[in-house]
Amino acid sequence: MTSSQPHVAIVGAGIVGLAHAWAAARAGYRVTVFERTDKARGASVRNFGMCWPIGQPAEHFPLAMRSRELWVEFTKATGAYARPCGSMHVVAHDDEAAVLEEFVRAAPDGGFQVELLTRAQVEERCPGVKRGVAKAGMFSTTEMNVDPREAMAFLPGFLAEKHGVRFHWNTAVTQVGDGKLHTARGEVHAYDEAFVCSGHDFESLFPEIFAASPLKPCKLQMLRTVPQPGGWQLGPMLASGLTLRQYSSFLGCPSLAEVKARVAWDMPELDRYGIHVMASQDRFGGIVLGDSHEYGEFEIFDKAEVDELMLRELRKLFDFPDWTIAERWHGIYAKHFGDVEYRAEPTPGVHIAGGTSGSGMTMSFGLADRFFAKRELAV
Ligand SMILES: Cc1cc2nc3c(=O)[nH]c(=O)nc-3n(C[C@H](O)[C@H](O)[C@H](O)COP(=O)(O)OP(=O)(O)OC[C@H]3O[C@@H](n4cnc5c(N)ncnc54)[C@H](O)[C@@H]3O)c2cc1C
Repeated sequence: MTSSQPHVAIVGAGIVGLAHAWAAARAGYRVTVFERTDKARGASVRNFGMCWPIGQPAEHFPLAMRSRELWVEFTKATGAYARPCGSMHVVAHDDEAAVLEEFVRAAPDGGFQVELLTRAQVEERCPGVKRGVAKAGMFSTTEMNVDPREAMAFLPGFLAEKHGVRFHWNTAVTQVGDGKLHTARGEVHAYDEAFVCSGHDFESLFPEIFAASPLKPCKLQMLRTVPQPGGWQLGPMLASGLTLRQYSSFLGCPSLAEVKARVAWDMPELDRYGIHVMASQDRFGGIVLGDSHEYGEFEIFDKAEVDELMLRELRKLFDFPDWTIAERWHGIYAKHFGDVEYRAEPTPGVHIAGGTSGSGMTMSFGLADRFFAKRELAV
C-alpha cells in the first residue's frame, strides 16, 4: 500500500462496509474503515450466518454464488467456521409441496441446483426433521453456513493483514463531503472516495437522503439453543413451507398465492409479525432459530409472543435433541422493498451503500465486487 494510491474511506464495519473494504483493496485502493463501536455489533453479527443463494431470484443467483466463492476464499484463508451443508426446505402442506414442484421444474433455467425429495428422503438426510410430518422437501446444494460472530471478528484482521486495510474503531463519523471525513473525536481525514455503509442508522449521516429513500428499518427476533448433546449434527440448514412466503426466488410459482392465502386465513398472527421459520447450527453445536419481521415503527422491546409463535411453528416440523433456549436477541436491518441493494451518491465522491435487507450475508461480497469490477481507479 502506498500513499499515492487513491484513498477510499468506509463508514461502518458491518458486512456491507467490510465487503466494500475488501473489494476496494482488491481493486488497488488504499482503504480505511471507520466504525463507531469497538467491533461489529449490528445486524451482521445478529443473523443466522446463512449464505443463501436459493433465496435469490434467478437474475441475482450468479452474484450470490460469487459471494459464496468469496466466503470460501475468506474462510479458507482464516480458518473461520464454514459448513457447505446446503439447505432443505421442509413442507407439510399440499400447496407448499406444489410450490416446490413448480420451483424445481423451472430451476435449471435459473442455475439453481435443487432436487425434490420424498418424506423418507428428507428424514434420512435431516435428523432434526420430525418423523412422519413432511409432505416433501427440496434440497439445494449451494447454501453455506458461517458463524457471523466469528466471521465478523476475523474479517478485520484478514483485511488488515492481507490487504493493508486500516481500522479506526470507537470512531463515529459525523460528516462526510468535499474530500473530508469528520469524526466525533475531532479528527479530519482526507479521502478520494467515501462509502457510507451505516446499516439501519438513517439519522447520523445524510438523513434527508435516507428519508427520501425506499428503505425502512426491519426488526427480527431470534433464539439460540444450547449446544446439542453428543456432537449432534443438524445436516443441511432448515427452512419451512412458511419460508416460501419470504424469499423472492419463489415469487414466480403459481401455487404460492394459495400458500399465502391459507396462512393469512388460518394463522393471521404469523403475517402480523412476519414469521417464518428457519434453523442453522453454530460452531459450538447450538441451533440458531428464527425469525420474525416488523417493519417501520416497532417496539424496541422484544415480544415473548413472537418467540412463542416461532417455537410453535418450529416444533411442528422439527425435533432437536435439546430445545433449551440459551439466548434471545433481536437485530435490525435496512429493508429495501424493491431491490437487492440501495445505492445513492448524495454528493460527488460519496456513495451510500446498504439496504441489503435479509440477504446481506448472502449478497454483500458479490455486490461490492461487482461495483468495483465495473470501474477503473478513480484517481
Ligand atoms: C436477525 C437477522 C437475521 C439475518 N439472517 C441473515 C442470513 O442468515 N443471511 C443473510 O444473507 N442475511 C441475513 N440477515 C441480513 C444481514 O444480516 C444484513 O443484510 C446485513 O448484516 C446488513 O449489514 P450492514 O453492514 O448494512 O449493517 P450493520 O451490520 O448493522 O453495520 C452497520 C455498521 O455501521 C456502523 N455505523 C453506522 N453509522 C456510523 C457512523 N456515523 N460512524 C461510524 N460507524 C457507523 C454501525 O455501528 C454498524 O457497525 C439477517 C439480519 C438479521 C437482523
